[in-house]
Amino acid sequence: MKSIAEQRILVYNSLSGTKEEFKPLNGNMVGMYVCGPTVYNNVHLGNCRTFISFDIIFRYLKHLGYKVRYVRNITDAGHLENDADEGEDRITKKARIEEIEPMEVVQKYTVDFHRTLAKFNTLPPSIEPTATGHIVEQIELAKQILESGFAYEVNGSVYFDVLKFNESSAYGKLSGRKLKDMIHNTRETSGQSEKRNPQDFALWKKAQPEHIMRWPSPWGDGFPGWHLECTAMSTKYLGKKFDIHGGGMDLKFPHHECEIAQGEAVSNCSPANYWVHANMLTLNGKKMAKSTGNNILPNEIFTGENDIMERPFSPTVTRFFMLQAHYRSVLDFSNDAMLASEKGFSKLMQALSLLDSINTDTETTGFDVTKWKQKCYDAMNDDFNTPILIATLFDAAKFAQNVNDGRESITKEDLNTLQSTFHSFIHDVLGLSKEVQGVDHYLEDALHLLIELRNDARKRKDFVTSDKIRDELSKAGIILKDGSHETTFTLRQ
Ligand SMILES: [Zn+2]
Repeated sequence: MKSIAEQRILVYNSLSGTKEEFKPLNGNMVGMYVCGPTVYNNVHLGNCRTFISFDIIFRYLKHLGYKVRYVRNITDAGHLENDADEGEDRITKKARIEEIEPMEVVQKYTVDFHRTLAKFNTLPPSIEPTATGHIVEQIELAKQILESGFAYEVNGSVYFDVLKFNESSAYGKLSGRKLKDMIHNTRETSGQSEKRNPQDFALWKKAQPEHIMRWPSPWGDGFPGWHLECTAMSTKYLGKKFDIHGGGMDLKFPHHECEIAQGEAVSNCSPANYWVHANMLTLNGKKMAKSTGNNILPNEIFTGENDIMERPFSPTVTRFFMLQAHYRSVLDFSNDAMLASEKGFSKLMQALSLLDSINTDTETTGFDVTKWKQKCYDAMNDDFNTPILIATLFDAAKFAQNVNDGRESITKEDLNTLQSTFHSFIHDVLGLSKEVQGVDHYLEDALHLLIELRNDARKRKDFVTSDKIRDELSKAGIILKDGSHETTFTLRQ
């Protein structure tokens, strides 16, 4: 088998539309920037898929021995309701609806985001910068773009001049759009906006008097445009040019296109070498949308409190379900697909236990373990193909079963290789943990016992004990609910 340093990785680059050999700019150091969430709502399942996809890339590169600096931002300011730079800031709007401070909205949904991703066993990024923490850098960047002649100021706002940029570069090269088509298709007539052209985008927006999230700038009080933060923060932590820039497919246009334009405007080079996009998740064959009700939140899957799934599914099974599809394919979430994934996952975990329990003293192996191990790497080297990796792991699972049944044999050395490879791909690379599911199951049994003990205490009017059980569980985030027939529990999210 090739040494880890010799693994040749192919990455699908959205910019070229082909798989390219991955060659980091600085030896074994990799810089990766992934656009994080706008924290005005509970994190969507589709977004989770994106972050799980990049978690796999992060984990695999680390597994190969790369030193990865993974930067994923938190958009806590400046993301307007629509891409035409109009409407309210999403966070401000939510603050108004919930009658709380915008930073309370940010805090609430950042906590939800972190908790949900932790349940999915994603690794935290190396740096998680926030837009509000980098206002100075964003103002500086807007000033530089103005100085380079690719932006203009109107009435306290600063806009990027897309037409001017397109004279020397190609605006639309990532998404495959042509500026002349965009202009042709636009319905906005001149004079409606202060922008010179509808395709221009805001680097800095003037704050209206009622706008709470505002900062002083050379152009007056305002707030940064959404696209600006990613360029400011990726440059600050990864440099003007870095290796991988990722995000959901929906960010290709306009967000990433605008990031490329901003980067090129100040440094004359495209910010990233490889643009990687994760595809979307559908629900029962249709696009997920809150407005149509065709929507499910991660926590609703875990608790079972939804009308779509017949029962709850653990975060690990949900993660496994997502990894059974390649990150660039559309993936459809459904009750049947989850049931199948749950079965598949438990088969894989059984194989892991079986493999660990096998004892051998034979001289021969009826399975080419070295070749199989390289096949696992080949799957991941081919644009992080997790479904092929999982299928390859199942090949070994089948062989392990045959060894256990006495139909095949394996040497001690091969068994060790098989076990360690199986473990490292399942735990380190795929981030699947047998323990999480097991602990859930054991804890649930323990909880039922506590509920029973509390009910017994109540029956004999020992309210000191029954209240103690209820209160201590509540402190731990487990809320008991007394129904007419039975006591159930929910977890405080
Ligand atoms: Zn971004």
